[in-house]
Amino acid sequence: NELLLLESEQLTAVGQLAASIAHEIRNPLTSLKGFVQLIENKVPGVNKEYFSVMMEELGRIELITSELLFLAKPQAQEFKIEQMNKIIQDVVLLLGSQALINRIEIRTENLACLPAMLCIGQQLKQVFINLIKNAMEAMPGGGVIEIKASMPSTSLMLIQVVDQGKGIPKELISKIGSPFYTTKENGTGLGMMTTIKIIKSHGGNVNISSIEGQGTTIDVYLPVVSSVSTS
Ligand code: ADP
Ligand code: MG
Repeated sequence: NELLLLESEQLTAVGQLAASIAHEIRNPLTSLKGFVQLIENKVPGVNKEYFSVMMEELGRIELITSELLFLAKPQAQEFKIEQMNKIIQDVVLLLGSQALINRIEIRTENLACLPAMLCIGQQLKQVFINLIKNAMEAMPGGGVIEIKASMPSTSLMLIQVVDQGKGIPKELISKIGSPFYTTKENGTGLGMMTTIKIIKSHGGNVNISSIEGQGTTIDVYLPVVSSVSTS
């Protein structure tokens, strides 16, 4: 328990730092992009590819800063009663065409057993977007992603995202969720950190199990919270 507390405190500190850095980077980045575009059309005799590389790299910095900002944004997020079933269905719908393009089928199982709960719906959507995207990225050859819901007890729900992807080597599982840990060329290494942060802020937990070459299962445990505690 002490360890868990420490972990969540570290996330907060990293989150705050991330937000201030992202903020400082954003404005100069916007003007840089503008001037690069301006020069591209004004300077003759320079390889056009240099400009597209510059714009791509600037775009990458932009992506990272926006993910960092999302991490720590203290936006007015309100806990509301939402149907978990609907939250997950929405995400499946949202990622449907991307899945189709990648020859991936997203199957859902038993979602109707999930109750309504007090949560920040937008954040939980982000969790399932992050998990399903990772699952898709682990299956470059296509395949099936299963989203299985169950109720281990009346007050606890379990949602599993199961993929048939490349899997994760045992010794690397503990690194997942560390800021900037990525094995992808275009990854940010912030998705799982955000995911874990959101689930923990809802009183839940995330468990990762994986077999190399066979696939990965992410277990999301969420307590069913139906009313605001007055204490
Ligand atoms: P990113 O997706 O930008 O790399 P994440 O925080 O979402 O960052 O994931 C961190 C790393 O965890 C990934 O780069 C990948 O190595 C590993 N990972 C996460 N989910 C999966 C999965 N479903 N299958 C295989 N590897 C995964
Ligand atoms: Mg990711």
